Amino acid sequence: APGLYIVATPIGNLSDITLRAVDVLSRCDGVACEDTRVTGKLMKHLGLSKPLWRYNDHAEERDRARLIESMQTRAVALVSDAGTPLISDPGYRLVNAAREAGVEVQTIPGPCAAIAAITLAGLPSDRFLFAGFLPVKDKARGDILAELGGIDATLLFYESAGRLAKSLAAIDTALPGRRVGVARELTKLHEECRVDTPAALIAHYEAKPPRGEIVLLVEPPHEIEASPEDVDALLREALKTEKA
Ligand code: SAM
Repeated sequence: APGLYIVATPIGNLSDITLRAVDVLSRCDGVACEDTRVTGKLMKHLGLSKPLWRYNDHAEERDRARLIESMQTRAVALVSDAGTPLISDPGYRLVNAAREAGVEVQTIPGPCAAIAAITLAGLPSDRFLFAGFLPVKDKARGDILAELGGIDATLLFYESAGRLAKSLAAIDTALPGRRVGVARELTKLHEECRVDTPAALIAHYEAKPPRGEIVLLVEPPHEIEASPEDVDALLREALKTEKA
């Protein structure tokens, strides 16, 4: 059926693609993608051949309009280089424009590095906040960490291997005492997940510089410890209820 199909693709292991994703990619009229070479390889692996159209959210308005127009009569799949489109990847503007134009939009969920990381690290998963890539500049990075640091949730960031050490140091400064998770090369041969203090992680990766793709996790703020006075008050309160 005509419309826009948001299709999640593997983040490493090529077997991580849903039956429905393969079905949509095999039936669609064309695939909008970030990089035709990357998506071309995936299509080849799946034994599929479809027109591939380069798309990103910085596309000219009229290119986007043309793509939206074609969705009135054709089925267009949107994929990114890896994982779920729109998650630190292009697609938001396209989905927004498609909905405004009354185009049918469907999502075919699947791999996402942030979600894979939260399932692996053993940090609280009941509340987490995904904040995309940390800013590159020191000041902006410190500001974001300070802003998000008070929130009672595990924080998730995308990170590159080259910037890991700097980011770990920034977390240590802005949010002292928090444990940090480094989830690296998820679903790939050298998958690794370490949860430790920033200092220990910095030491580890100094000795063994990391490669590949990384999700950083920061544990939530610790419970505020009760002062002795608070404990006395709580005890008195508890004894009162017991007597009553
Ligand atoms: N849309 C993708 C998703 O759903 O995860 C994310 C795209 S974003 C441009 C790329 C970043 O995602 C990488 O720099 C890294 O932080 C993270 N990432 C992607 N694949 C990963 C993997 N296999 N292991 C760890 N992190 C990964």
